[in-house]
Amino acid sequence: MRKFLLTSLVATLPMLALPAAADKFEEVTIEHNEVADNIYMLSGAGGNILLSAGEDGVFLVDDQYSQMAKRIAKKVQEVSGEDVRYILNTHFHGDHVGSNTWFANHHDSTIFAHDNVRERLSNDDSFAAAGLPAITFNSGMTFHLNNDTVHVFHLPAGHTDGDSAVWFENANVLHPGDLLFNERFPFIDLKSGGDVDGYIANVEELISRINDDTVIIPGHGPLANKAEYQSFLTMLKQTKAEVDTMKQQGMTLDEAKTKGLSDQWNDWSWSFITEERWIETLY
Ligand SMILES: [Zn+2]
Repeated sequence: MRKFLLTSLVATLPMLALPAAADKFEEVTIEHNEVADNIYMLSGAGGNILLSAGEDGVFLVDDQYSQMAKRIAKKVQEVSGEDVRYILNTHFHGDHVGSNTWFANHHDSTIFAHDNVRERLSNDDSFAAAGLPAITFNSGMTFHLNNDTVHVFHLPAGHTDGDSAVWFENANVLHPGDLLFNERFPFIDLKSGGDVDGYIANVEELISRINDDTVIIPGHGPLANKAEYQSFLTMLKQTKAEVDTMKQQGMTLDEAKTKGLSDQWNDWSWSFITEERWIETLY
């Protein structure tokens, strides 16, 4: 352990000396893409945001990292000319709730989330009380705004134990939170109530509720449709089957990681969830 610490210190110190490394968000800009009338996908650093604008005010699904707050606010202003009235958090991870406090303080936004999101954020001393969801729910809620009916529903243990998906009925736009990492292996937070089988079941449930015209703003990755969501489900099931087979053959985790998944899944590996890490989760 000591050796590891020393090594990582040595590796870190030169980085700290470089001003360019001080803020990894410095170069990030918020991009917007109108996916339906007055509904936008915003991307920057962290989870993708859904923005709904209209006569009832701005409604956001998720708000990325705290460092992005002012840039998100500027983009909201550019697109809608307004402040943010409501924010819905799909789950408690920092790349989805990080700007809560800024918006609560500067826009007086009201924040909504599943009960477990507030519970987990309350237990995090570094998270300011002002940014906690003020209104929480157990199974779901419905917003009637901007000429749409917005269904928010909790799904059982999957990515975490407090996941919600949001569906705009008229516009037919779904934000499934981190129950979709489009074109990449997902992070499943096993330490925060996540569950691989539950995750797969939730993805099946969401796919059963949508149609070929549904526009999907994934938690991570590019804009998606139903066919792409199905490809993601196929990947989940088949990679799980591959790891199950290796386990049944008596392979240890290390042996399974050395053998790896079949080549067809190479493209799904990315910086955060590499093939090795995905195998660890499945194992
Ligand atoms: Zn997440």
